[in-house]
Amino acid sequence: MNQPSAVFRDFVARLISAEGADVELIEPCALEFIAPPALQQSLRVPEFGRLGFGPDTPLDSERVSFESDWIQRLGDVLGDRGRTSCRVLQAELPPLAHPERVLQHGLVLQNAVNQFVSATASWTSYLVCSFRFEAFSDEKRDGIVKMAINLGTSSPVEESIAAFEAALAAEDNMSRDRTRQRPALLESWSQGRLDRLFRAALPGRIRRHLSQFLTGLERRLDRDSARLFDYYDGLRKESSKKTRKQQSGQDVETRAALEQSRIAAIDREYNAKVQDLEQKYALKIDIQPSQTLAVTMPVRRFELIVKRRKKERRLLLDWNPLMRKLERPMCEYTYEDASSYVVCDDALHIISPESHSACKACGRAYCRACHRSRCPRCR
Ligand SMILES: [Zn+2]
Ligand SMILES: [Zn+2]
Repeated sequence: MNQPSAVFRDFVARLISAEGADVELIEPCALEFIAPPALQQSLRVPEFGRLGFGPDTPLDSERVSFESDWIQRLGDVLGDRGRTSCRVLQAELPPLAHPERVLQHGLVLQNAVNQFVSATASWTSYLVCSFRFEAFSDEKRDGIVKMAINLGTSSPVEESIAAFEAALAAEDNMSRDRTRQRPALLESWSQGRLDRLFRAALPGRIRRHLSQFLTGLERRLDRDSARLFDYYDGLRKESSKKTRKQQSGQDVETRAALEQSRIAAIDREYNAKVQDLEQKYALKIDIQPSQTLAVTMPVRRFELIVKRRKKERRLLLDWNPLMRKLERPMCEYTYEDASSYVVCDDALHIISPESHSACKACGRAYCRACHRSRCPRCR
């Protein structure tokens, strides 16, 4: 049995036995069940039967696949359960022989210095949120984008998600003990603060997810726009030629007026077609939160002072024992991490170099976190 079919079968087995069914796994990839009346109704199945998963479904089993209406049926049984999960990971926290060196390697500031203060054993909570998005244009795409942050330091940690999931799955196999309590750190973040973060941070992440789709969309739009322009440009030229030929008997003014009204009619039609195109290729994206996982685990908390000119600010970063590295700060403009950072003069924002790039008009670099809408010199 292949891996996805095995995972799917085990999930269905766990779900329906939690709903009171008697379940027996049958190899290679099926299960036999006896379902109580409520489950028979919600899952639309008889009292007993066999379900098969994957390509090797036995002939006497009903096939359950991701493409069938079984996804909807299982969703009905699941309801809102499984949307939030709070877990504690008991990872071992090794001592760090040279924390200053870890800091020097882990954080690159292009125009500021950092001063190591301390690295102490601590705990933090991570929030991993999954969002389902649907992008509509002349074509449709959907997908899931995940966002993960360290609630103690605000570091974005998407690259740690796989490690969290693997560690949690390994713990799953050892014990079924799990906390249901929301971690205190999550309670300290108001829903409004989280919403603001998601609103600011998701568009860039979804755009990256959709980059191929967006490139294709732009290419189709450019192609259709060029065709439209060529067609109506041809009409315009032809019209001028005709006017010159056919109306040679008329006086110059009448000819010019006729020509103008024809060109105006062509332009009106062209503009209407351009609007149609814009509508056809307009992009609308729906985003729905789908799952939230809070992981609380030990980390080594680094405290440091970032110094730029005469100013300084305190910064906290965690060294994570699963990833065995120092997490990077969140760029205060893009809400993503970066391989190096720039510190702004006025507010000491820690931002990616692109967020402190030169203004296209005046050529002076400025902080996009301080001035979100436009360059302060070109106001
Ligand atoms: Zn400027
Ligand atoms: Zn700034």
